[in-house]
Amino acid sequence: MNLQGKAKQKMTYDAIVIGSGISGGWAAKELCELGLNTLVLERGRMVKHGEDYPTAMKNPWELPHRNRLPHQVSKDHPVVDRCYAFDEATQHFFVKDQEHPYVQEKPFDWIRGYQVGGKSLIWARQTQRWSNYEFEAPARDGFAVDWPIRYQDLAPWYSYVEKFVGISGNRDGLPHLPDSEVLPPFELNCVEKHIQQKVHDNFQGRHVIIGRCAHLTKPEEVHRQQGRSQCQARHLCYRGCPYGGYFSANSATLPWAERTGRLTLRPDSVVHSILFDEQKNKASGVRVVDAHTKEMMEFYASVIFVNAATLNSNLILLNSTSRRFPQGLGNDHGLLGRYLAFHNYRGSLLAEFDGYQDRYYYGRRPTTAFMPAFRNVFQQETDFLRGYMVAFSASRSGWGRGLADSGFGSAWKDTLQQPGLWQVYMMMQGETLPKYENHVRLSQDQKDDWDIPQLITAVDYDENDEKMLQDFLVEGAEMLKTSGCQQVVPYDSKQAPGLDVHEMGGVRMGKDPANSLLNRWNQLHACPNVFVTDGACMTSVGNQNPSLTFMALTARAAHHAVEELKKRNL
Ligand SMILES: Cc1cc2nc3c(=O)[nH]c(=O)nc-3n(C[C@H](O)[C@H](O)[C@H](O)COP(=O)(O)OP(=O)(O)OC[C@H]3O[C@@H](n4cnc5c(N)ncnc54)[C@H](O)[C@@H]3O)c2cc1C
Repeated sequence: MNLQGKAKQKMTYDAIVIGSGISGGWAAKELCELGLNTLVLERGRMVKHGEDYPTAMKNPWELPHRNRLPHQVSKDHPVVDRCYAFDEATQHFFVKDQEHPYVQEKPFDWIRGYQVGGKSLIWARQTQRWSNYEFEAPARDGFAVDWPIRYQDLAPWYSYVEKFVGISGNRDGLPHLPDSEVLPPFELNCVEKHIQQKVHDNFQGRHVIIGRCAHLTKPEEVHRQQGRSQCQARHLCYRGCPYGGYFSANSATLPWAERTGRLTLRPDSVVHSILFDEQKNKASGVRVVDAHTKEMMEFYASVIFVNAATLNSNLILLNSTSRRFPQGLGNDHGLLGRYLAFHNYRGSLLAEFDGYQDRYYYGRRPTTAFMPAFRNVFQQETDFLRGYMVAFSASRSGWGRGLADSGFGSAWKDTLQQPGLWQVYMMMQGETLPKYENHVRLSQDQKDDWDIPQLITAVDYDENDEKMLQDFLVEGAEMLKTSGCQQVVPYDSKQAPGLDVHEMGGVRMGKDPANSLLNRWNQLHACPNVFVTDGACMTSVGNQNPSLTFMALTARAAHHAVEELKKRNL
């Protein structure tokens, strides 16, 4: 296509953002607020806050299968069906696997939400800052390159995004989990408090806190201006929240960007690749395929933000070939798509707690008890590298003891109405090491319906992950038993990478263009008007839930982009 004059002008913006999810929403908000006419390209359909949450107010009996999925639906969605959040009331926010094929050279559960808002509609909203223990880890043990930034570079941006997002939690004062800007916390229940005390008394350096999460427990003016209101603790979040009680791009960043009058949001626009202008030696725009008509078109801008979520951002860059970049944009050394890492979620423990039979809890709290990493934080102390955080919750099984003890008659029915024993569920979230072998690349012969090469996933666990898993199962059981829990049952789900939905890397940041793709401002070393600020940019993966860090990096990079534009450096 060779558009000239007015026709080209019509397709030209100051900035283009690829993807409208958690990170793309932040790029759109910042770039629009800072005065740039911004085009957001989203491959999925429009989802309007409130209007397009069809199941948000439905009771189980109003859903055709009481929120269970018919066998056929599960069969038709073999990958997303493994995700705990996929059910009858949320299925419309997950991709149909069959429509979006990819090649699993090694098993990888790629969980995707293709719509305006992306996975911000279906995330679990857990938000923790990184500390320098994470930023310095690669330099310490040599796995991955040194991060080009430190906590101090990101701290003001964490504060900046947290105030807008609204994070519920405590100021816990822990060096390895820096405090956030917080709204009032949710409360631990009596059994969780009991375990908290026992862990405190018996395990030095281990802390139980309430999970920090992106929920408005007490909205402030900036949240009211977004049109959001208090979290009702319904815990139906994965259906979209009409109250705006939790943070999503749909409820917060995108409408905020829209209000500036500078946002053009274009759903159903599948970005095929980024265009590179060989003469100007920079990216000039993007090539897009209409999701329905398959028509090809081009849009142009001075600055491009890539926020399609980790693997799709890798795919788009790999598919952006030119004479200058035959292996993909910015990929002079063949490292694009490499050093992918993720979170090890395989281990969990289930236990019973016999006590507090006269106690219960109110509402459906949307977060859990949480233990920041305690292994290898201040010094190397195990035979595996890095560490894991622990999340746990205690609840009373809804069916009462009666269901387990068979019986009949009214007395038995009465027991069914009593809450059952307390149960404790504990799980790990472990850091995996970025390794050259763990990678994605493009298929040479298989394409999708939009004529885009399919992605091949070649990502696996290693010995370090196995050792870390065993350590969690032993340490977790020890903490539960010491707290008075019984019947502690360890479980290794053996789940494939990907199901953690925290895949990161492939376009890593670094100081040296010879072994990394992005500089300290998330610009491609070799094409600085392209910024990658989603999980693809992560040099290593820490043990924290990652999305808060993607948001802070995005806001920081957007401000840098505008400064550079003003200086005519882009
Ligand atoms: C069940 C679940 C629970 C989670 N819980 C947490 C949690 O508690 N804490 C946490 O930090 N993270 C959590 N996550 C992960 C979190 O959702 C992601 O880290 C986050 O959404 C990533 O933001 P993003 O902007 O990179 O991607 P997304 O939010 O997925 O947005 C990417 C967007 O890009 C679009 N896109 C993709 N390809 C193209 C293309 N070629 N052209 C145009 N548009 C494109 C997609 O359609 C999508 O809308 C969870 C995820 C899931 C599914």
